[in-house]
Amino acid sequence: MVDKIQKLRIGIFISDPDRYLGKKIDFKVLASKLRSLPNVVTVQVRTDLADEKGLDFLSRTFREKKLKRFVIAAAAPWLHEELWGNRLEKAGLNRYLLATADLTGLECSTGKRKKQATLQAVEIITAAARRAAYLEKITREEIKPSAQVLVIGAGLAGLSAAKELAGRGYRVSLIEESGAVGGITKDLTGLYEDLPSLYAGDRLQPAALIETLKNEIERDRRIDLFLSTRIIKIRGQVGDFTAELTGPDGKRSVIFGAIVVAGGMKAVSPLPSLKLKESTPVILLSKAGHRINSLTAGKNTVSKIAFLMDVGKEQGVVTTGAVLNQALRARKAEREVTVLCKNIRVAAPGLEKLYREARENGIFFVKYRKTPKIEAVNGSVSVSVRDELMGEELRSNYDLLVVAEDYIAGDEALRKILRLKGDQENFLQEDNVWLYPNESSRRGIFITGACREPMTVSQVFEESAATAGAVDELLGEKTIAFDLATATIDEDKCVFCLTCYRVCPHGAIEMDFTRNVARVSEIACRACGICAAECPARAIQLRHYTDDQLAAEVGSPPQLLIFACEQSGVRAAAAAAELGWKFPPGTMMVRLPCAGKIDSALILNSLQKGAEKILILGCHRENCHYLQGSTRADKRVEEIKRRLQEAGLDPERVVLANLISKDGAKFRKYVEGCSV
Ligand SMILES: Cc1cc2nc3c(=O)[nH]c(=O)nc-3n(C[C@H](O)[C@H](O)[C@H](O)COP(=O)(O)OP(=O)(O)OC[C@H]3O[C@@H](n4cnc5c(N)ncnc54)[C@H](O)[C@@H]3O)c2cc1C
Ligand code: SF4
Ligand code: SF4
Repeated sequence: MVDKIQKLRIGIFISDPDRYLGKKIDFKVLASKLRSLPNVVTVQVRTDLADEKGLDFLSRTFREKKLKRFVIAAAAPWLHEELWGNRLEKAGLNRYLLATADLTGLECSTGKRKKQATLQAVEIITAAARRAAYLEKITREEIKPSAQVLVIGAGLAGLSAAKELAGRGYRVSLIEESGAVGGITKDLTGLYEDLPSLYAGDRLQPAALIETLKNEIERDRRIDLFLSTRIIKIRGQVGDFTAELTGPDGKRSVIFGAIVVAGGMKAVSPLPSLKLKESTPVILLSKAGHRINSLTAGKNTVSKIAFLMDVGKEQGVVTTGAVLNQALRARKAEREVTVLCKNIRVAAPGLEKLYREARENGIFFVKYRKTPKIEAVNGSVSVSVRDELMGEELRSNYDLLVVAEDYIAGDEALRKILRLKGDQENFLQEDNVWLYPNESSRRGIFITGACREPMTVSQVFEESAATAGAVDELLGEKTIAFDLATATIDEDKCVFCLTCYRVCPHGAIEMDFTRNVARVSEIACRACGICAAECPARAIQLRHYTDDQLAAEVGSPPQLLIFACEQSGVRAAAAAAELGWKFPPGTMMVRLPCAGKIDSALILNSLQKGAEKILILGCHRENCHYLQGSTRADKRVEEIKRRLQEAGLDPERVVLANLISKDGAKFRKYVEGCSV
């Protein structure tokens, strides 16, 4: 490696578009110090490196100076990294041979302070040049994905997603585990909000809506509907999933380019916890519509009705909407109606209005904390409850009690088969709630409808259209290109412990049981580096963030060494600089793709090499871009602290903190708190 490095020709470019760095740094001194570094053949300061003219200058210099590695230093260089990478490629060079140096937050002033800022800049750029010397070319690959899509679940979400996908020209297999399509929706009567405009004109009821969709799907030759069918196994990755399906005709394997999960949610009846059974005076909310229809028809003797919600956990807006809707329908049929609840949640479009309408129509609301005592006797129901607002014990008899079910995440077995992450309640977790709400943690697997979270019928329609759009974005180009800037496994070192398989949040590790080694699926890998940090045999490297590259960058670290996640810590540093904050001298920031990439060896080596304190900055656990990164980093840091304590060292020398990308104030607080 040393021989190879000695032959490198490194070019250093300093980008100062608004002449901001020029006020802080003595460029002459900086350039002369950088020119004396090993392998550095040119140092250039430019104000136009983000413009066409400056980019042309870069291309020319790359060629004329025969450069092999590149360093671009700037304040917040990540803002233009893509642009510079593209220019390298245009010049026939590899974008991964570029290392950036972040000059955010340098001391600003004249005289002694300017000297200090210049020295800081020298240190930061030198670290990037050390890293550049270890960078390797990374190539790009392409696959041709299958244009067939599997949709799992034929409730409203699955039916509408299948229809949208077929409309975009995809061949769709729609599988439904039960014997009928329509999921929850087919059994509902009377929705609390208008049906989507597409169907509203017909004034369709939910069951009729499902029938219409079913007919459309059966007529569409691009969609194959398989009832009583389940997926039992899946192999492969995005573009080339092989799904093993089992149904009335036995088992078969089919290749799909993408999978859409529309498995919905599952109802849990709270009746057993109330020691009640379904009977004429006690029914569940999902079945209330038909019964209330019969009231409207004036066919029965029910005159007093109670709706009971929040028996288990407090229920969300979909259930609240459904309760208010059915309660109002009953009230409009001139029945006396009471709603028993812990809270009324109206934070969704139209619910506040519905609640007001319910009150104005004379529906009586009782807020309880302790579960009411309920007895079903002689065809009616007696309810004793303490009204928290009035502070009174109430006891009434009702002819009908409607109890709202709890809803939990749908099919746990399906989640495990597909190796998808669930949230705290096991609803399927999106990859990034803000950016990609319909993409799961695994590339090529999408989630839509109530399996993601309880939602209304119109939301389901919007979701399905968005999901079809996301699938089309992935498969529409006919090829999927991806860089091999991924994890890579040294098979000779792998001891087949399965750790990487378990920790990868994106299902990108496959175990080869014939050769007893783990393998990375490069198309599925999102390059978080969590597996590399967790592998006990140190068999995994993350390309572009290898152990050698990071160790070279750290070099002989200053007193305070910061490892910052590029999604949060690195950006928060720029936010802090915008607020006028300066990095204290003796501080160095090393960028990581995710806090989950930090490994024990890097921390302990850095301490050994002279860092007094190490600060690791990552996203908040629940917002981690790679789902598990912050949680894993947290566990690792706890373990290191324990080891430091056992060795008689101060465990507080290693600190992990969480923040968001815009939180400059927190960044400052954490860095100042660690400054030595
Ligand atoms: C009581 C109640 C009242 C409601 N009232 C309203 C209302 O008034 N207005 C409104 O807008 N919304 C209402 N909703 C919400 C609405 O019903 C849901 O948004 C909608 O049904 C969600 O559709 P879905 O297809 O996502 O899920 P589901 O309807 O749950 O469908 C999922 C389907 O997937 C199938 N499936 C599951 N796992 C597998 C597997 N492994 N393989 C194959 N198939 C599988 C299931 O059998 C099912 O058919 C209400 C919901 C409830 C529960
Ligand atoms: S964690 Fe490392 S040793 Fe264990 S299976 Fe994965 S690569 Fe092999
Ligand atoms: S780098 Fe991240 S996404 Fe890639 S295999 Fe490792 S853990 Fe999975």
